[in-house]
Amino acid sequence: MKLHMVRYGTHAESILLTGDFWDAYHLLVVNGNMAAYYPAAMARFIAEQVFNKPYIIDPQTHAFQHDLRYIRSSKTEEIKSSIARLLEQYGEPFKRSINAGRPVSPDDFKDNGILASAVERVIEFQRNVFSAQKGEWQKYYEFININPLTPWAVIAPYFFMDELSVGQWLEINAKAVEIAKTKYPDEKVVMQLVIGKGLLLSQELSKVIERVISTPADMVAIWIDDFDETSATITELTMYKEMLRKLGGKKEVLILYGSYFSVALMKSLPELNIKGVCHGLEYAEYRPVIPVGGGLPVSKFYYPSLHIRIPYVEVVFLVRPFLDSKEDYFRHVCDCKTCTELIGRALSVEEGFAHYGETSPAVSRRNNQMVVLNYPTTEARNLCVKHYMWCKAKEYQEAEQSPLQIARELNQAAEECKAVGNAFTAHCLRWAKVLEGG
Ligand SMILES: [Zn+2]
Repeated sequence: MKLHMVRYGTHAESILLTGDFWDAYHLLVVNGNMAAYYPAAMARFIAEQVFNKPYIIDPQTHAFQHDLRYIRSSKTEEIKSSIARLLEQYGEPFKRSINAGRPVSPDDFKDNGILASAVERVIEFQRNVFSAQKGEWQKYYEFININPLTPWAVIAPYFFMDELSVGQWLEINAKAVEIAKTKYPDEKVVMQLVIGKGLLLSQELSKVIERVISTPADMVAIWIDDFDETSATITELTMYKEMLRKLGGKKEVLILYGSYFSVALMKSLPELNIKGVCHGLEYAEYRPVIPVGGGLPVSKFYYPSLHIRIPYVEVVFLVRPFLDSKEDYFRHVCDCKTCTELIGRALSVEEGFAHYGETSPAVSRRNNQMVVLNYPTTEARNLCVKHYMWCKAKEYQEAEQSPLQIARELNQAAEECKAVGNAFTAHCLRWAKVLEGG
């Protein structure tokens, strides 16, 4: 089965993972700092609200290798409390180095004994952080003879590599996986491969792939820094596909941040051996390794045929031809559960669709001036994310198609939507080209 994976972002999003949405995805990815900071709440969520949904914990070990300002609170200059909890769990050599005010470096892991105990602590954390929590649910799971809250797989400690640092980190990343599989032969051990875009296009890549394949990892989980498939070039997308083909020849692959392009690769090219593709709910489908601050919040509506989120003020142009008839809207734009309810009960398509773009004015300080900005209402944001979640579920559930069929659909969508300008359609043409390449 191909896995629809979702990254658990904030507690507020949990309503999009339960109830009606429970069936819409298969596997949760929980960030290590979230797990370390809210172990009881997260354990209860997984055991009770999503009925022991399979999950993995991203141990986020790379957080300790960047400039420390990214893990310090901007107010207090102290290490952020959720990261500090993680540090408490991981111990040395992380603690020593962070306490000395510097990030970890490859030298810190040179000693095999130090690396081995770091691997053990990072994996023990994943195995125990939720399963050690006690709750009402235990009686129930004991009754049906299930050991709840054990992770679906464990991830070895990992560090980000770019063209400059790959020579130093590759061996450490690979050895960490070797140690993990030796110590935990019965666990599904995942090697998380986090690389810069430059490395994707460099000669070094084949060396990286060979080394990854040589490890005993059961799966390779891929995260390319800030790799937005909707803005990536044809060359980048082609290199990405070829990397997956080489890795997939030997290992099962998980894509940790991916858009419809990755879903389309997973579904139409079985030889790439993609087992699952993950996305988040708010920031969604790509992510920089080093966190960046958000811009102004605007309502964005995921346009199903183009497979991207488009700001509400732009997307209304695409919807305009279908405003006269609800049937037209359902046929040509979206017939997800949220659209069906919202537009079904409205007097007109126009009135119903407008809920996705509702804003309310708020006073904000910009460059020392008070300005009034229109922010999306909470209701509008919730509607947009719900509609997004249903659209994603449909993409994963759709019947298998050939790469050429998907390419044809993408070309057609770009043609039909060209009124909105190629900023929102060109990615479909690029994706189609790469898919046509087989
Ligand atoms: Zn919809």
